[in-house]
Amino acid sequence: MTDQSITPENMLALKSEYLMPCVFHFYKDPMVIVRGEGCYVYDQQGRSYLDAYSGVGVNNCGHCNPAIVKPAEKQLSQLQHMTTIYLTEPMLRLAEALAEFLPGPLKRSFFCTSGSEANEGALLLAKLATGRNDFISLSRSLHGRTYLTSGLTGIEFWRTDPEPPQNVHFAASPVCSRCPYQLEYPSCDIRCADEIATIVENNPQRIAAFIAEPINGNGGIVVPPEGYFEKVQSILKKHGILMIMDEAQTGFCRTGKRFGFEHYAIQPDIVTVCKALGNGLPISAFIATDEVAQYYTRPGASTFGGNPVCAEAARAVLKFMKDNELHGKASKTGQIIGERLQRLQQMSPLIREVRGQGMMLGMELVREDTTAATEEMDALLEQLKYNGILVGKTGPERNVLTLMPPLVLSSEDTEKLCDGLEQAFTELGFIDALGEH
Ligand code: PMP
Repeated sequence: MTDQSITPENMLALKSEYLMPCVFHFYKDPMVIVRGEGCYVYDQQGRSYLDAYSGVGVNNCGHCNPAIVKPAEKQLSQLQHMTTIYLTEPMLRLAEALAEFLPGPLKRSFFCTSGSEANEGALLLAKLATGRNDFISLSRSLHGRTYLTSGLTGIEFWRTDPEPPQNVHFAASPVCSRCPYQLEYPSCDIRCADEIATIVENNPQRIAAFIAEPINGNGGIVVPPEGYFEKVQSILKKHGILMIMDEAQTGFCRTGKRFGFEHYAIQPDIVTVCKALGNGLPISAFIATDEVAQYYTRPGASTFGGNPVCAEAARAVLKFMKDNELHGKASKTGQIIGERLQRLQQMSPLIREVRGQGMMLGMELVREDTTAATEEMDALLEQLKYNGILVGKTGPERNVLTLMPPLVLSSEDTEKLCDGLEQAFTELGFIDALGEH
């Protein structure tokens, strides 16, 4: 029996009284989520929702997966906490497992609790390793909520601080369908990457690192063109600048590979991971090569970094992903969903572009007059929710319908999701009367 006092009205009253006003939520008519199992979550009235957003790309192995919950519960009743100043086994075994899970020489981990903290740590490490103080980030990026990471966030919507740090340089994000130079790929010779070279030349010996997501999530699920990161890395290498890959959303099989950067012929110096590493428990890390990590010798501790319970959960996540070959599954299911989204695009003039890789997919919604279809996006989100499906929205203009379902999505639920999208587009009159446009 659910507690009768758990109603949206009561929760909204508590929220407006006790939370900072910045904490916003999806939906005009929100529900209270009280339970999760596999690819479904349940509200206060017991209604089920197919969760195609996974708590923003976290529950890659599904909600409350017993293969992860059981070892975490065992650890919870055995030893909950000690911190990094003591030797504990779970953190060390996890570090070993992560080094093995990652390709190439990325080997040494520092554990913390959030994506912001992992990025902040990676940036500090880059400073220590290079002796420089400036960073390059991309215009459509989001890297966190702390002072420096929100300063490195290019998306206006997420840049809260009126006086962000001054040591950040922005380059245009590689978005071919909105090329700032009005050029065509590949004859453009990837002009946007040249912006990195210009920043470096204008700031000699000042840039410590370049940070980017392998596929731009919050920027609206944008996959950079082939050769972009390769060209950027060759510029960085010439100047001794490190490459940090923020794998918050793309890591842990989401894009059809274990890590998003594996889609390119690059070798990052530092990667940052969070979200899906704990499948819902708070754990994150920055991981570097021996060559870079050797500069971090001053004392560093994190109270909850490598917490035994979270570490055991994370180790179980890696095992589950390997045992179930989740990257291959994400690639196959993502292909099926992607094809259905393209079919929907043929039917709806509202869909400007379908983008993404694996099970990280987006549809940009734009009106005939080329303005961002933000109200239509919100109506879709709400309609889908009424129909029992949760999706996300991203993009600088908040008009990209975003899908990041658990990677364990069954073929029936894949169909249900795709049919549900078509149904909601139809119900809202977003399908062309002729069925083609
Ligand atoms: N980097 C990226 C790409 C993210 O999407 C996010 C969170 N949405 C973060 C960093 C920050 O993570 P956290 O909220 O755990 O601090």
